[in-house]
Order: sequence, then C-alpha cells, then structure tokens
Amino acid sequence: MPNGGPDCCGNCSHNRAVQEMAHPHPSDREKFRRISFCTLRQVALSNPFWTYCDNFGYGKKPELRNVDEPLIGSITSSGLYEGYVRIPWHDAVEPHVSVPAVCSICQRQTDVGITILHAGHTLGFCTNQHYVRWWLTQHVDAAFNAENFESPEERFKEPEGPR
Ligand code: SF4
Ligand SMILES: [Zn+2]
Repeated sequence: MPNGGPDCCGNCSHNRAVQEMAHPHPSDREKFRRISFCTLRQVALSNPFWTYCDNFGYGKKPELRNVDEPLIGSITSSGLYEGYVRIPWHDAVEPHVSVPAVCSICQRQTDVGITILHAGHTLGFCTNQHYVRWWLTQHVDAAFNAENFESPEERFKEPEGPR
C-alpha cells in the first residue's frame, strides 16, 4: 500500500509510535499501528499513514515538539478515492471509508460508502460529498465545502452503452 503523503500521523512527532519507534521497520508495522496515538489531541490513530492534521510536525526530533501548541482545525482521513482527497473526522470520531452504507442524505445504497458514529447511531453516506454535507451541519469550518467533492451523479453515472 502506498504511503498517503509525508504529512501523515505516521511521520508526526505528536504520534506516540513515532516518539517510541521513530520510523517502523517493515516487520514492526503492526506494533506501530497498534501504539499510534496522538499525544496532542489524545486520540488513537487506527490508520496513521492515511490520517492528517495541520498540527503535523515532522518527527525527526519528537522530544523537541511543542506539547502545548493550540489545535488547528480537524483531523482528516483519506476519503473515498476520487483522486486523493481528505475528509474531516467528526471531532474524535473517525469516518470509516469504503464500507457498505445507506446514504442518510439521498438513501442511495452502496458497498463502497462512508459511515460515522454519531449520537449512538451509525450514519451512512454514498460519497465524500454527502458525508461532508452532513458534517457541515455539525461543524462550522470554512476549510470544507461539499461542492469540492464528486457528486453522486458523477460517481454513480452509468457507463454509456450501445443504443
Ligand atoms: S493528529 Fe495531527 S498532531 Fe496528531 S499525530 Fe496526527 S498529524 Fe500529528
Ligand atoms: Zn448520498
């Protein structure tokens, strides 16, 4: 699996796994993933090489990190592939991507959607666009605009066949 960009939690000085293991030897990948935890935001990172935030600090010397720096924006994950895009977490709750879902916005059913846990319920979404549309009903953040993501009409359009 390719690495999801150099500015991911897997390279960040705030990740406990980076603090303890530096960069993982391939045979230590599972342990690295298991102990990945953001010590700035106090959240476990299940997918550190595909998770991001603007507090990223390259982890060459984690002992020099600023443990008191103010948080900047939301954590993001790689969204459904439409080109590489990043979608925000719901505070400390990570969206699950590429999973079966029934969309809470348009009711479309897909095997490759997004789900998020919210108020004790799992909500589903068909696309990054509909996930972000819902997310913006819960968060005020000008960094995200649902219209910047692929629409369901684009994503699910039927290939044109012979007439
Ligand atoms: S969530 Fe942000 S601050 Fe925390 S480990 Fe990941 S990139 Fe670093
Ligand atoms: Zn939808």
